[in-house]
Amino acid sequence: MTLHFRPGLERVAAYRAGKPAPVSATGQSYKLSSNENPYPPLESVQQRVAACLPDAIYRYPSIAAQPVVDALAARFAVSPDSIALGAGSVEVAGQIIHALTAPGDEVMFAWRSFEAYPILTRVAGAVPVEVPLDADARHDLPRMAAAVTDRTRVIFVCNPNNPTGTVITQRELDDFLTAIPDNILVVIDEAYVHFDTAADSPSGIEEFRKHQNVAVLHTFSKAYGLAGLRIGYAIAPPEVAEALRKVSVPFAVTALAQEAAVASLEAETELDARISDIIASRQHLADALLALGYPVISSQANFVWLPVGPESDRINGALEANGISARCFAGEGVRISIGSATENAAVIEALSAIQPV
Ligand SMILES: *Cc1c(COP(=O)(O)O)cnc(C)c1O
Repeated sequence: MTLHFRPGLERVAAYRAGKPAPVSATGQSYKLSSNENPYPPLESVQQRVAACLPDAIYRYPSIAAQPVVDALAARFAVSPDSIALGAGSVEVAGQIIHALTAPGDEVMFAWRSFEAYPILTRVAGAVPVEVPLDADARHDLPRMAAAVTDRTRVIFVCNPNNPTGTVITQRELDDFLTAIPDNILVVIDEAYVHFDTAADSPSGIEEFRKHQNVAVLHTFSKAYGLAGLRIGYAIAPPEVAEALRKVSVPFAVTALAQEAAVASLEAETELDARISDIIASRQHLADALLALGYPVISSQANFVWLPVGPESDRINGALEANGISARCFAGEGVRISIGSATENAAVIEALSAIQPV
């Protein structure tokens, strides 16, 4: 082999997508492994997307995506030049790393957190710095602040955290942002913010307004149910947003995704009702599993985390035998997305049939 691959690429693990659902002996098959929305797209959104066809297929999309940018700017009362779009907020997270790091620079995040962070970091030639969660599966922000070096360029704070569902408090974030030098970009990844009902949770957008070095990541994939269309965005200081647009993949955000995003922002009231249902189901599922004797971390996202350590494979196996795919982190825990009422009931039934931990 004479081709020259980028040094370090051999250490990049392929992104592990949520498993497709297995099929149980009784034909049951439920995918609860990727934190997708259990509801089909709203009728209004489907119609708007359909109305874009066939142009959206044979024409390139608009790169400026002005209608989405303007709708988001109005929605959050921010300047349009502080918004940068991507094909999902995963792409935007990658843009941030590409725009702010040179080879050898450090990107810090809690661990365990979103699996894409170490992959995106290594692919960019930067160095991941993983700071362990505390004993309650929460961000250890003082420890993260202490881990800053002169190579640190970007810090991701995933709030609520994937896969544990835990959140940070306003006070903790205030102290953290005070401690972090303002030449480091702090990225608050709020993929699950719509599901967060904790009274003292900080708002990423408010922090963005207060600090020159804070960016927020949002996605239409989770609460808005557009995971397959691929659209997410950063709200960031304008010079950061401009840099993100420079490193973005041209035409990555399709016209269908743009139209669906605008239609979803117009249908927020309808979507809010669904979000409330998912939050109520989360409570129901957590309570039921606690009553069965499982450890359940209190979650502010659209999933629950069972920190079952060495029992993870066994518990995941019981779910799979019942046709349910969850996300198993061997030796650590099992993350189960909130599904429909039927799916959640199937989880409870599967886990009531085996010994908890
Ligand atoms: C799902 C997820 C995202 C974004 O996903 P996209 O589909 O790329 O928008 C971002 N951050 C976290 C923590 C997630 O779990």
